[in-house]
Amino acid sequence: MKVIHLSAECYPVAKIGGLGDVAGALPKYLNQLGVEASVVMPFYERKFVQENTFETVFQANTFLGDRPFFFEVLKEASGKLGFDLYLIKILGLLDRTEVYGYADDIERFVAFQLAFLDWMLWSGKQTDIVHCHDHQTGLVPFLLYYSYRYKSLAHFRTVFTIHNGQYHGAFNWQRGNYLPEIDPWKTGLLDWSNGINPLASAVRCADAFTTVSPSYLKELSISSNGLEQLFELEKAHGTGIINGIDTDIWDPKTDPMITQKYTIKTVSAKKAKNKELLCKQFGFSAEKPLFTFIGRLVVEKGADLLPEIFRLMLADPKNPVSILVLGSGDEETELELAALKEASPGQYNAYIGYNEELAHRIYAGADFIMMPSRVEPCGLNQLYALRYGTMPIVNSVGGLKDTVIDISEPNGYGICCGAATINAVFTGIKRAIKLFKNTAELRLLYPREMTLDFSWGRSAKEYIHLYQSLKPKL
Ligand code: ADP
Repeated sequence: MKVIHLSAECYPVAKIGGLGDVAGALPKYLNQLGVEASVVMPFYERKFVQENTFETVFQANTFLGDRPFFFEVLKEASGKLGFDLYLIKILGLLDRTEVYGYADDIERFVAFQLAFLDWMLWSGKQTDIVHCHDHQTGLVPFLLYYSYRYKSLAHFRTVFTIHNGQYHGAFNWQRGNYLPEIDPWKTGLLDWSNGINPLASAVRCADAFTTVSPSYLKELSISSNGLEQLFELEKAHGTGIINGIDTDIWDPKTDPMITQKYTIKTVSAKKAKNKELLCKQFGFSAEKPLFTFIGRLVVEKGADLLPEIFRLMLADPKNPVSILVLGSGDEETELELAALKEASPGQYNAYIGYNEELAHRIYAGADFIMMPSRVEPCGLNQLYALRYGTMPIVNSVGGLKDTVIDISEPNGYGICCGAATINAVFTGIKRAIKLFKNTAELRLLYPREMTLDFSWGRSAKEYIHLYQSLKPKL
């Protein structure tokens, strides 16, 4: 079976969040299970692209509306990622340093999808399945089945995975001319609220759609930025498959980014050493519990709650704590979190930005990781944290609900706050501090956390099962 994954992100080439992790891991694990999986993504001006060798496998001209463009398909030469990686290079559109955030993102990702389909069309390259990820690739199922141009590719089966249902990539019908001629009877499959909505279209047109956790599938019909009705209608056809973690990269025993590597046997001593080093770098005393946050500083992640929660934590002299933040996102939250540094030196610090290595060192050295998310499609931070013996403090929503069991339950290993509010999270923090004071109890939980099986092995098999069951939907 051949599967092409189409994604805007893929670790280690370009990663903004969980989508990058998944696109960089799932294909590798599928290959290990006998599926021929590859990845096709845009060519960005990133370090990986500059430092690795690529060969050009295809070149052509095509159109975005009446705008002609030339594109190339480059293949990573060494095959070292465990899957074939193809980059679509469109000069002036995709070859930029950032993945998202440009005024012409719509044009960039529509052009990416058209170039992909043209490549398939003119090269004769075959696949059984095109697995599309998030709205940046959401037009592909519709175009395969209902555009005249790509009719000869309509035998490709399609899967669409939602990693984030809050973003739809919607644009108005005035830009409908970007798409090649389509069956006029089918335009309704593109439309939502009088606009073209790639996410909605993919949910309707792909042979199967999945979300990255079962709970998130249910939650989309309650909150999905305007698509609630659609998900209410479609949820019975969806499948929730929890993400795995790439244990080649996220393993405290071998992780090259952490100073003191460890196993279940050595965790207590080595984790303490990792904490000491981290605390030294950020000016903390290693005696206090170290609370951390890693992630996008956006409302979905509850990042706007953090400054007030931190103020409450820092104002309690009976329970001294250290707090470290790694993240970037909404400007106001970034500024507030940065400003807090001056108010509480020696107890609070923040790295505003993206830093893969520091993230690894935090998972290894922290005592607790906070995830007060309002929306969490799967969440990978809690899975990485657990593998490194760091306890997650979460609001039980989406994938957090499916993966974190409260310590008050039998075999529990996390702290569930019950709501994404300042009070609920602060109560969770107080429970964590109490647990920290009982060092023996906290340490007893390390093996339980570290042996949880969130590997890709299981989830990749679920995807294979889904691939095998695909039939044309419409
Ligand atoms: P998202 O909704 O952002 O995709 P996930 O929990 O699924 O959230 O995935 C987040 C991934 O991005 C994790 O691998 C996390 O370690 C990483 N990450 C997020 N922000 C940063 C940052 N500022 N620096 C380094 N890694 C980060």
